[in-house]
Amino acid sequence: MARVLIIGAGGVGAVVVHKCAQAADIFTDILLASRTKAKCDAIARQLKRPIRTARVNADNVAETVALIRSFKPDVLLNIALPYQDLHLMDACLETGVSYLDTANYEPLDTAKFEYKWQWAYQERFQARGIMAVLGCGFDPGQTNLYTAYARKHHFDEIRTLDILDCNGGDHGYPFATNFNPEINIREVTARGRYWENGQWIETEPLAVKRTFDFEGVGPKNMYLLYHEELESLARQFPEAKRMRFWMTFGESYLTHLRVLQNVGMTRIDPVDFEGHRIVPLQFLKKLLPDPASLGPRTRGKTNIGCIITGSKAGKERVYYIYNICDHQESYREVQSQAVAYTTGVPAMLGAKLMVTGVWKGAGVFNVEQLDPDPFMREIGRWGLPWQEKFLDQSPLEP
Ligand code: NDP
Repeated sequence: MARVLIIGAGGVGAVVVHKCAQAADIFTDILLASRTKAKCDAIARQLKRPIRTARVNADNVAETVALIRSFKPDVLLNIALPYQDLHLMDACLETGVSYLDTANYEPLDTAKFEYKWQWAYQERFQARGIMAVLGCGFDPGQTNLYTAYARKHHFDEIRTLDILDCNGGDHGYPFATNFNPEINIREVTARGRYWENGQWIETEPLAVKRTFDFEGVGPKNMYLLYHEELESLARQFPEAKRMRFWMTFGESYLTHLRVLQNVGMTRIDPVDFEGHRIVPLQFLKKLLPDPASLGPRTRGKTNIGCIITGSKAGKERVYYIYNICDHQESYREVQSQAVAYTTGVPAMLGAKLMVTGVWKGAGVFNVEQLDPDPFMREIGRWGLPWQEKFLDQSPLEP
């Protein structure tokens, strides 16, 4: 029925390919293309059905355009890195193909992610009659859809939103990141930021800490971070008084990160080293374990969800919606750990809703602008079931 072009053969890309291959009645033709074709071929060998593979430099618009013209996909899934977002959106505009990604654009030389660069494509996508769905992983992605679903069914007004991202998995390394190390470290070392009373409040990096008892994992320290979905959610739900994002980190991770920062290994500006220009963070990435290799070693669960307060028919309520995902079960199913799994499954389902015309429209959309119901109905069947409960009071107040 539909032809899908997946760009990026890393940890998340592998999951997207596995899940698209499972939806054989929808995705009848799959092309996986990435910078290193051997990685695409290795993923293809894991599958029960044949897919095509190709090499592409997604920063080269002409190369992607040529690939699109030869394969003629119905949708392009950008599962490469945030640096490729604009180049791939340009290739989609040139060829009239719809676009989906899981992370917003970030310039290579500044650790700053913002939607403004992608939102600027709105009129061009509208004029071309194609759709761009932004941020369709787990967070951003499923958490945005949880919020939209809660607002649609359980609240007339959202007052506060807290997104809680817990990875209780243990891979046995003293320090490794569960997705691309460069993107992960840029995100975690940035200043904290949250939305309150119509403005952004900044904090020192990892300066605000709480402990939360996560079902399936247990009590964990979590830290306030700035995360990209806060920007689009604050725009979509302007009535909200406060929106925050929290992520758990273990002591070993934080100690290593502190040392690496102190010695300059997380710098993103080039330095001269014996006649070569190197970026310390990119060099560090080379030394760290590849997140795609963590699957067989990682044990434990993730628990990611939203706690929302607000009112319905004049009554105050506190609503908690979350998913628990097991690293080893993910590995058994698709040979990847749960962080890649929780990102890749919503990307596949988003693409399915696009190619079947359930999510449709011309322009650039963050997922919370789309109808959450068809997504919420199906996501459990694809491996990420959600649980919900109403609480007497928010565990995060005051
Ligand atoms: P990886 O680094 O494991 O994989 C990225 C892949 O993209 C690699 O195969 C890489 O090629 C390829 N790539 C990079 N540059 C290019 C290029 N110029 N042309 C073609 N291919 C390229 O990253 P992850 O799989 O961990 O993450 C993928 C994306 O998912 C990231 O954008 C990340 O931010 C996002 N993410 C989103 C989450 C969410 O919940 N929304 C959570 C986690 C991740 P090569 O192998 O040759 O290096």
